[in-house]
Amino acid sequence: MTKPPMLTAQQALDHLLSHANTVSDDERVAMQAALGRVLAEGVNSLVDVPPLDNTSMDGYAVRTSDTKVPGAILSIAQRIPAGSIGTQLEPGTAARIFTGAPVPSGADAVVMQEDCAVLEGATHQVQVNIAPTIGQWVRRKGEDLTAGNTALLAGTFLRPQELGVAASAGLTHLNVKRRVRVAAFFTGDELALPGEPLKPGGIYNSNRDTLLACLKSLGCDATDLGIVPDRLDATRQALRQASKDHDLIITSGGVSVGEEDHIKPAVAAEGHLDLWQIAIKPGKPLAFGAVRRSENPEDGEAWFIGLPGNPVSSFVTFLLFVRPFILKLQGRQAITPQSYPMRADFDWLKADRRNEFLRVKINSKGGLDVFPNQSSGVLTSASWGDGLVDCPPGGVFKAGEMVKYIPFSALLS
Ligand code: AMP
Ligand code: MG
Repeated sequence: MTKPPMLTAQQALDHLLSHANTVSDDERVAMQAALGRVLAEGVNSLVDVPPLDNTSMDGYAVRTSDTKVPGAILSIAQRIPAGSIGTQLEPGTAARIFTGAPVPSGADAVVMQEDCAVLEGATHQVQVNIAPTIGQWVRRKGEDLTAGNTALLAGTFLRPQELGVAASAGLTHLNVKRRVRVAAFFTGDELALPGEPLKPGGIYNSNRDTLLACLKSLGCDATDLGIVPDRLDATRQALRQASKDHDLIITSGGVSVGEEDHIKPAVAAEGHLDLWQIAIKPGKPLAFGAVRRSENPEDGEAWFIGLPGNPVSSFVTFLLFVRPFILKLQGRQAITPQSYPMRADFDWLKADRRNEFLRVKINSKGGLDVFPNQSSGVLTSASWGDGLVDCPPGGVFKAGEMVKYIPFSALLS
């Protein structure tokens, strides 16, 4: 049997991304339903934000030409709470003003109330104890958003703060990409669902909960097609079912080239695939291809990504390869996860020719600790950890050196 080609992580990723085509359908949803979705088209603000120059402090609006030296005394000619508009500020006068209220025309600064004293017995006069600079405590009209200009770009992943920006721009609804539909099934005769009896040599299917939750974290519609036995016909049948209403099929297990590994021949029979060895650890084998939806070519194909069975391998390969593929299908702008240089507080002296992804945790000294057992079967390493250290092929380092750290939080949204 010929060995599958060995690819670097970057080669595998480039290949995957070159195929991922953004889903074409959009839908219009009310603001709160847009959380976690991807903006289908850019939105422009309907208004200036703020709508007028306004004060960021409770205090007195003044003309700086009246307050060039500390101690100037001005008469309080008007009172402007938030939501009302004052009148022209005449020379020698000040306006009592409250946070958010528009600065009256004629005024060019606000002095906060702590820097003023209302004169005893003359409540309509205020002493200004500083010499404010022009524009002090004034929030400029349109400094956040301007009417007719971009508030949010197409492809933006919508977090709470983006919904707030859209609301401040005056929008009630947003056009978002439809959710990407992903079917998942899990191969292995040894697998049982938690709650079911375990036969001798059996294990619980943990990939199901990990991977379905990963899909949900990324905002996909996920369909669980359950456990599929290690048989070619059963695997083909599951693929046919999964291809119908989904953009992508993911599986775990069965991607090696052993006698009990049926993913390769099954996908080859129902569509086409490449089987890769990726020079990463954990998670070497990965299969990428597509499954026909029917005999009619117009029905198209569902993408297929087959992950390894080991729980850490399937989790890590999901984060490194399936996540960016899905993000591209979703039409997201930002696909590369945030990474940070961080100090390793451990030695890593055994070079591996593969690109290793170590499960690590941030310690109280602001450095990284490593989980002692980095086996691809030990899923508690990922649960203990806060993220991954991306250690290049052949990479070694000593405690105190800087390494590339990718938090799980950057990989799960
Ligand atoms: P495979 O890739 O099918 O050769 O499986 C590799 C290892 O991962 C074996 O030890 C399997 O028992 C284990 N494994 C496969 N699928 C799962 C799963 N869904 N949950 C937990 N472990 C699994
Ligand atoms: Mg298996």
